[in-house]
Amino acid sequence: MELALEPLRVQGSLQRMLRRGVAVSPGVVVGVAYCIHEIFVDASGKPLRGEDVHRELEAFDRAVEKAAADLRALHAKVASQVGPREAEIFHAHEAILHDPAFLNKVRDCIARHRCTAQAALQRVLKEYTTLFARTKDDFLKERLADLRDVIVRLSGHLSRVIKEGPGALGGEPLVVVADELLPSHVITLGDCEVSGIVTQSGGPTSHAAILARSRGIPAVTGVRDILRQVKTGDRIIVDGREGLVVLAPDPESEAAYRKLQREFVHLQHQLAENRDQPAKTADGTPLELLANVNGLGDLPAAEAMGAQGVGLYRTEYLFLTHPSVPSEEEQLENYRRMILQAPQHRVTIRTLDIGGDKTIPYLGHRGEANPFLGWRSIRLSFEHPEFFQRQIRAVLQAAAIQTTPPARVQLLFPMVTIVEEMQRLRALVRRCQRQLQAEGKPQGPVQIGMMVEVPAAAINIDAFLNLVDYVSIGSNDLVQYLMAADRDNPKVSHLCQPLSPAVLRVLHHLIRTCLRSGKPVTLCGEMAGSPRGFLLLLGMGLRSFSMSPAFIPLVKKLASSVTVAQAAQVAQHALELRTARQIRRFVAQQIHQLCPDVEILDVE
Ligand code: PEP
Ligand code: MG
Repeated sequence: MELALEPLRVQGSLQRMLRRGVAVSPGVVVGVAYCIHEIFVDASGKPLRGEDVHRELEAFDRAVEKAAADLRALHAKVASQVGPREAEIFHAHEAILHDPAFLNKVRDCIARHRCTAQAALQRVLKEYTTLFARTKDDFLKERLADLRDVIVRLSGHLSRVIKEGPGALGGEPLVVVADELLPSHVITLGDCEVSGIVTQSGGPTSHAAILARSRGIPAVTGVRDILRQVKTGDRIIVDGREGLVVLAPDPESEAAYRKLQREFVHLQHQLAENRDQPAKTADGTPLELLANVNGLGDLPAAEAMGAQGVGLYRTEYLFLTHPSVPSEEEQLENYRRMILQAPQHRVTIRTLDIGGDKTIPYLGHRGEANPFLGWRSIRLSFEHPEFFQRQIRAVLQAAAIQTTPPARVQLLFPMVTIVEEMQRLRALVRRCQRQLQAEGKPQGPVQIGMMVEVPAAAINIDAFLNLVDYVSIGSNDLVQYLMAADRDNPKVSHLCQPLSPAVLRVLHHLIRTCLRSGKPVTLCGEMAGSPRGFLLLLGMGLRSFSMSPAFIPLVKKLASSVTVAQAAQVAQHALELRTARQIRRFVAQQIHQLCPDVEILDVE
């Protein structure tokens, strides 16, 4: 395979328009910016003309009406599907929306400062934030979070793109620019086709990055203050491989990047041609390459890239894109379709992993000082037994589906930390099985697994093995917890590195312990899909990998170029190195020798 991709040398005037961030999802796109939450941009523009002030006040009133209609609809839906208590939050938001003091403040600001409604909302939010910053009262602090929500909703209705649709941007590829791309933005963006992502915060394993990778969207995170330099409609280039963003590119750089974009797409197509070849190493050792998916919409990509099954279904997106907790029937239908449509009808369904950077308002989850160390995943699910059991019951029933070949369904529990949790989880599954039996509802066999993503569980892994049917290593979280470096914070992304001596030693311990006791083990963190991560894991003895579908052809290509003995030698040497830098360099050199074709697709 002839690969002509060379990093683009950026020189001269281009330097001035260049911003550097963290490369999180490879690929190149030339398009126009769509800024989310323009409310948080410094909206200081020229003062409006007298006649425009009136128009702006009317636009604000219309946005208030639309936001009120949203909130009423949400209240009705949540009240009927979950309960009046959970729906109360939308009444509270409506009360803020109609609060005369708030409305007058915004209107007054538009009229007095002759500024846009967006800018006025920003000023008002700033004013309240300063005021509330002095309070120690948690209740009042929560009211600020509610106010922020209301303002963001209003801002959405005032935004040009939401009003006019993406067509307003001339049908060009859309590059989303945001402070942080939250999973809930997936809802907001609706049908807009997103071709690139740039965020101010977020690291390589933030959920924005994972979302981007799973859809093959080039993305750069950690570009400080980008929202101050770009506005919706501006031309922009994203180079997700080098971690570069080019603002207002000149025609020469646009042409150069368009060429790179074409080459990149061509390379991906070339690699995807191996989709029907078996996944095995150069000496014929079979491997399992599975897909991480966030919903049914990711299955065509999993199929097209040659995944052998779904190794991780992150069900939180089903909850996040739903106005309330999905009913048992809704979940059952979703899991059934997932099993029916997944490659070889093989699916690992992970129970709700909420908290950390993903919140669901209707579960009463509120901001915590240390959300990643707090009320997250099964810790939260245990406190909502009615919802938790609903999910487990839905999975058990979905597993009864008849397919050819027979379905293989696995239930996966995230964030398991101590043995007692695993015992409690098994008891919960047994209770659900008994309930279904008593109700005469069909259910199928499921294997029960734990995600190992907390260092305590990794170190103590042997104590868990008789309680689980298999182990799935969640390296994204495991790395952040081992390195005490937030996976979403670009300031510490140099520490949140899977190729660090400490991480490799823990992974080695985990893989070795599972293999020795004959317990199936897989890894479903992002490192499985990076050439360097994959090579090291293969060398440590791992044979099952789950990754964003876009990376499967690449990993298959690398696997076919290396023998198990070569990989083992690389891993053994890497485990002796003392710094992450040495490891990264050494493994990159090895890949250059073994399979130079794939190095271009590794993000720096
Ligand atoms: C992980 O932590 O490695 C993982 C796969 O789960 P998530 O990225 O959804 O936290
Ligand atoms: Mg995780």
